[in-house]
Amino acid sequence: MFDSDSGRDPQSSKFTRRIFGAGAVAAVASYVVAKLVQAPGVEASPVVHGTPGMVKIVSFKDDGTRLDTQMVPRIVKSDGEWYKQLGANSFNIARKADTEMPFTGVSWQEHGHGIYRCIGCDTALFSSTTKFDSGTGWPSFWAPLAKENVLEKNDDSMGMRRTEVQCARCEGHLGHVFNDGPDPTGLRYCMNSASMKFVKG
Ligand SMILES: [Zn+2]
Repeated sequence: MFDSDSGRDPQSSKFTRRIFGAGAVAAVASYVVAKLVQAPGVEASPVVHGTPGMVKIVSFKDDGTRLDTQMVPRIVKSDGEWYKQLGANSFNIARKADTEMPFTGVSWQEHGHGIYRCIGCDTALFSSTTKFDSGTGWPSFWAPLAKENVLEKNDDSMGMRRTEVQCARCEGHLGHVFNDGPDPTGLRYCMNSASMKFVKG
């Protein structure tokens, strides 16, 4: 689950150079050991993610009332800081683009009135008024609260083209958007509940 970052990890690069001189069997054995040793280190990892700069975000009250549009600084933090803030489950999903098991999250069955904010930075993302039961086991919405508050990016992982949805302020992974949703947009924002927190409004 940390494979996507191993190439940027200085420890990993050192390790890669070291195995060039070893036999294949030893290399595989070393790789397994290295992965085992690396995994717990994320709590203290200084590897920083995020794009410094400002971003335009629309503020919302917890009841979904739209407030003003503001320029705010993007969130840039290290893996270690994110891990401490989010805990293992939300870290792996929101920061490492893992997907939670369907029908296990905290909000796929949430029917209360309110909004869903980013677990990492509180940005208002979705409203209960656009939530619908998709039958997938993941919280699903037919629109975000504001287009400015989410980023949509091509994702070619898993051998298919999908559109990943991220928080615009902290670039946390939220889920994917598909075009098989209900009216009025025909979109299905299929989100991970571990990437968001529901706030009653
Ligand atoms: Zn965020």
